[in-house]
Amino acid sequence: MNIPEFKEFASASIDYIADYCENIRQLPVLPDVEPGYLSKALPKRAPEKGESWKTIMEDINKSIVPGLTQWHSPFFHAFFPTGQSYPAIVGELLMAGIGAVATKWESSPAVVELEVRVMDWLAKILGLPEEFLNCSEGPGGGLIQNAASDSTLVGILSGIYKKIQQLIDEGSPLLEWQIREKLVAYTSKESNSSVEKSGMIASVKMRLLSTDPEGSLRGPTLEDAIRNDKAAGLIPFCVVASLGTTGTCSMDNIKEIGQICSKEKLWLHIDAAYAGTAFACPEYRYILNGIENVDSFNFNPHKWMLVNGDCSAMWFRNCRYVEEAFKTKATLKVPKYQPEFEHMQIPDVRRFRALKLWFVIRIYGVDGIQKHVRRQVNLAKYLKELVDADPRFEVVISNLGVVCFRLLAEDSITQAILERITKRKNIYIMPYYFKSQLLFRFVVCSRFTLREDIDKSWNEISTQTSEVLKILGK
Ligand code: PLP
Repeated sequence: MNIPEFKEFASASIDYIADYCENIRQLPVLPDVEPGYLSKALPKRAPEKGESWKTIMEDINKSIVPGLTQWHSPFFHAFFPTGQSYPAIVGELLMAGIGAVATKWESSPAVVELEVRVMDWLAKILGLPEEFLNCSEGPGGGLIQNAASDSTLVGILSGIYKKIQQLIDEGSPLLEWQIREKLVAYTSKESNSSVEKSGMIASVKMRLLSTDPEGSLRGPTLEDAIRNDKAAGLIPFCVVASLGTTGTCSMDNIKEIGQICSKEKLWLHIDAAYAGTAFACPEYRYILNGIENVDSFNFNPHKWMLVNGDCSAMWFRNCRYVEEAFKTKATLKVPKYQPEFEHMQIPDVRRFRALKLWFVIRIYGVDGIQKHVRRQVNLAKYLKELVDADPRFEVVISNLGVVCFRLLAEDSITQAILERITKRKNIYIMPYYFKSQLLFRFVVCSRFTLREDIDKSWNEISTQTSEVLKILGK
């Protein structure tokens, strides 16, 4: 492909994306295909000779789009939002076009320095403590990771290092491998499955603790678990607390948890994958009460902050532990520039992801990000009002853009309604089991969602509920 062809292809692709976003409301939110549909449509072997981009674009329409779940449809209310916006799309394009990657500063100074600056902007936007900033006097700092999952793993590995060092410094008679065998971490039953998985990868025990009726992990539950484990000869070393659990967007009580972590010398990692964006609005910062005891904090701009994936922001109060935990021979050289991000992450090389974050922050401004959060929270509040007004339902938990509600009837009926709604493909909502009850889990996801779309989605839920109740003679 030469330059004129590239320009033609790229311009056509931008037009395609613009039309796609403009028409997303008309596309069915769920695809109507059977498993294996694409393998049947595509040739079994790669083409011998190169094809024209026009043929490939035709295949996008013919074969790919029909198999897509439309994550940006205003009627998509499942999982969590996945970030997308015009500035981020262009940032992603320029990142690919410039094609620079970085390990340490020397490998591409702008890639590293922009990330350092943008992560400081972001920490200030969220109101994180000064110690987390790259520009602070102390050893704190932040970087972009791939995902919340690897941030949790990196947090846990830092906590392992810190605990082993602490015990060695205190003159523990145990050898390192004996300490490792006894390590135990804590999280709640409501935390994302990636937390349990991180414990498995790190080869440590991970206790999944019960939450209170609001889905929040509380101090006394953690204290009991620590007491029992210590009595059994184990070594507690870390807590992964969620600010915004995946199911109900519940907030663990980090004030209570943090005080225990501080007393017991446990690493406290915060997973705020979705809800972290809300802290851009001062009215939600009360949720951060207790942040003074947090060691590492993570949220995904690629969820709610309009940034295309992957872009997961992680900060450390003290970067020394992660750098030491990931120490290799290369770390021993005196760096020309700090931080050396390659020693704070799992991959070696990083893409120029700061570019899309920079674009989003500059083009939306803090004000635009706040408006986006408030608009979506207001839409969720509107849905809640609609549910509250229908005596057949009750709202069980509602936080930020998430509304979890239940039908005042047996779970089997809820199940039948959800299956019917999913089959009709007009909206996409998900079930969630919480405290042994089956809930409708409704999330305001798309940046295109309007109040009238919420009306349409609610109308679908309400009418299909009536239909199922009628069929069942209820
Ligand atoms: N943590 C929470 C609370 C989540 O809701 C999710 C995904 O929805 C994750 C972690 C995993 O995020 P990632 O895909 O960035 O690893």
